[in-house]
Amino acid sequence: MSHEGIRFVSKEDQAQENLADRPLPRIAVTPEKVRVKITEGTGLEIDWQDGHKSAWGFAWLRDACPCATCIDERKAQGRKAGQPKPKPTALLPMYTPPAKPASAHGVGRYALQFNWADGHSGGIYSWDYLRRHCQCPECRFEATESTGTPN
Ligand SMILES: [Zn+2]
Ligand SMILES: [Zn+2]
Repeated sequence: MSHEGIRFVSKEDQAQENLADRPLPRIAVTPEKVRVKITEGTGLEIDWQDGHKSAWGFAWLRDACPCATCIDERKAQGRKAGQPKPKPTALLPMYTPPAKPASAHGVGRYALQFNWADGHSGGIYSWDYLRRHCQCPECRFEATESTGTPN
């Protein structure tokens, strides 16, 4: 049996970029537990109400900063959220300390904000944004188009 005849949604509306913006169930974007491991220097861990567990390294989070400046910068360089900046091919590479927040705090009930040790703090990491960029093997497998060839 064919469902084609009774579809109201046009193919255009289902364009691929829009599929990534499909609304997530509330329990998938509501944290049960949030751990920001500043002392350990590792990253952020969230247990979601739907039972899923996510973790992001601080370096990933810094490179996925959702502020307008960083989004523009990534767009200009063709980088995905969390993809590190290309290393400058300088003869004397400057030492850059690993990204780490000096502090972090909740923004309302919907997001987290980091005050990065490098002084940057504009990015508001909404639960929705974090969940959509879950770095666990399962979610990374689903987001196959974002796992480019390693280089
Ligand atoms: Zn930023
Ligand atoms: Zn996941």
